[in-house]
Amino acid sequence: MMHIDIITCLPRLIESPFSDSILKRAQSKSLVTVNIIDLRQYATSKHRTTDDYAFGGGAGMVMMIEPIDNCISHLKTQRSYDDVIYTSPDGERLNQSMANELSLKKNLILLCGHYKGVDERVREHLITREISIGDYVLSGGELAAAVIADAVIRLIPGVLSDETSALTDSFQDNLIAPPVYTRPAEYKGWQVPEVLLSGHQANIEEWRHSQSLERTQKRRPELTKKA
Ligand code: SAH
Repeated sequence: MMHIDIITCLPRLIESPFSDSILKRAQSKSLVTVNIIDLRQYATSKHRTTDDYAFGGGAGMVMMIEPIDNCISHLKTQRSYDDVIYTSPDGERLNQSMANELSLKKNLILLCGHYKGVDERVREHLITREISIGDYVLSGGELAAAVIADAVIRLIPGVLSDETSALTDSFQDNLIAPPVYTRPAEYKGWQVPEVLLSGHQANIEEWRHSQSLERTQKRRPELTKKA
């Protein structure tokens, strides 16, 4: 079973994605445990603060190293981790092959930054990997951690009810998924492609593959080169 610890100073920001639907089911089927940890519990100051002013001045608070070190050290007494990941806009960019790779790990820590980010010494000494979910800046790492965890957890065998469905998603094989339709076969005169109603599985597969190629060429031509 996979285990993910998410360290945050705002636990409420990240609870709901794991309390519904596929991510909830993954936990109740014991395929993954997601543990949300309140960093404040590891703060030593009277008011349990986890941030302080930046050395050298300037706007924005910085997350202190001590509570983070206390928290990670405590977690490490309970299990050994494959990776201690910091969510960071300047990290390695998340993509499907990274999600595939992470889905094979056993124990992960995701550290959510806030304010101006964490004291650089956290990144130098306590973190093994840094992941960005895209070239834009969020106000905190919680949404990024939820995105990373979601992309990874849905790949764990047994999480999706149709075992093959993660494999036919976009970006697996560097292809975009083909279009999908459901009933009714005709709506306001808008028809579902005839081949999908034919029941001829080989033709359907061939149509889907050609649609995938066409879409990839049109929408994401740079992927076609990799495919
Ligand atoms: N001053 C930092 C941004 C801090 S944003 C900079 O300019 O790089 C506050 C926190 O949100 C970060 O510490 C990080 O944990 C998270 N975050 C913001 N954007 C993110 C992104 N694109 N991917 C992953 N995490 C992000």
